[in-house]
Amino acid sequence: MITRSSALLQRPESPSADVKPLSRPSAWQTQLSQAIRDPRELCRRLGLDDSWLPGAEAGHALFEVRVPEAFLARMRYGDPHDPLLRQVLPLIAEGENVPGYVTDPLEEAEYTPGPGLIHKYAGRVLLIASPACAVNCRYCFRRHFPYSDNSPSRAQWERSLDTLRQDTSIHEAILSGGDPLAASDRQLAWLVEHLEAIPHLKRLRLHTRLPVVIPERVDDALSGWLGATRLQKVMVLHINHAQEIDQAVVKACERLRSAGVALLNQSVLLRGVNDSVAALAQLSERLFEAGVLPYYLHVLDPVAGAAHFDVPDEEARELIAGLREVLPGFLLPRLVREIPGETSKTPL
Ligand code: SF4
Repeated sequence: MITRSSALLQRPESPSADVKPLSRPSAWQTQLSQAIRDPRELCRRLGLDDSWLPGAEAGHALFEVRVPEAFLARMRYGDPHDPLLRQVLPLIAEGENVPGYVTDPLEEAEYTPGPGLIHKYAGRVLLIASPACAVNCRYCFRRHFPYSDNSPSRAQWERSLDTLRQDTSIHEAILSGGDPLAASDRQLAWLVEHLEAIPHLKRLRLHTRLPVVIPERVDDALSGWLGATRLQKVMVLHINHAQEIDQAVVKACERLRSAGVALLNQSVLLRGVNDSVAALAQLSERLFEAGVLPYYLHVLDPVAGAAHFDVPDEEARELIAGLREVLPGFLLPRLVREIPGETSKTPL
């Protein structure tokens, strides 16, 4: 079972381990700490009948349930096929052993030169800034990731920063996780302050789902450190369905753009969530209305427990062909697969 559920707000060894904790949690931190973590509660709150419980509890034992209230509020009551619920509701199928589906589908263990550091592609390095997520997505390719081995101490962070200082070919630091924005603003401000002091670093990229599942995460503190850095800022949001984008998300996106952040989106093509031309077209339209450009549509990474979300390549290509007929080119996401060992994402 994944171990990232541990204390979101008080990891003892973190970039700011020597900084006193804030006396009061922010509104988003309170929401995070109050997220639903009980599969029975999730089913009850959405009016699902008891037939969903055994699967929900069995899947929860493999990868725990985590759903913030703000995300739950966008789901349709009484509809077990709601596209947002499908992303977070554990099913009995997660326990099936499907050939080809493994715990580390992208072989990230091969590309980890130090704790919390992943170096796969030329010119950019990925930092695991937080082992926690605001929501646990059932299809997540890191659902088995050894976060406990990748939660660096302050001294380890210093070593990772040294690696970046010494390698002048690296121009972009990517904050990932878990969800990097699950870290506190103090932790992130500390990290970014050290990153921007590295002269050859040009860009800061964040991959996050937090502004979507808890839009209040985009508050004054976040806008403050993000807006202040000299680094060019790119945020890649992870949104899979148009129904995820409510007015609060639109507002969060506006604030991010005001802080000088370029907004992109990547989605995963998921059976039962967004596997139709209509759903994908609606998602692209809604993203653009919120000032976000569709970037990637990933096919599913073959992670153990998620095979029931798979859409075959041929069908994925047909969906993109259908999308091309109804959308302008700039709203068409690139259909890609990540293949371990390749120097970039592979177009399909
Ligand atoms: S937010 Fe991202 S990293 Fe976290 S569970 Fe969902 S897909 Fe995985």
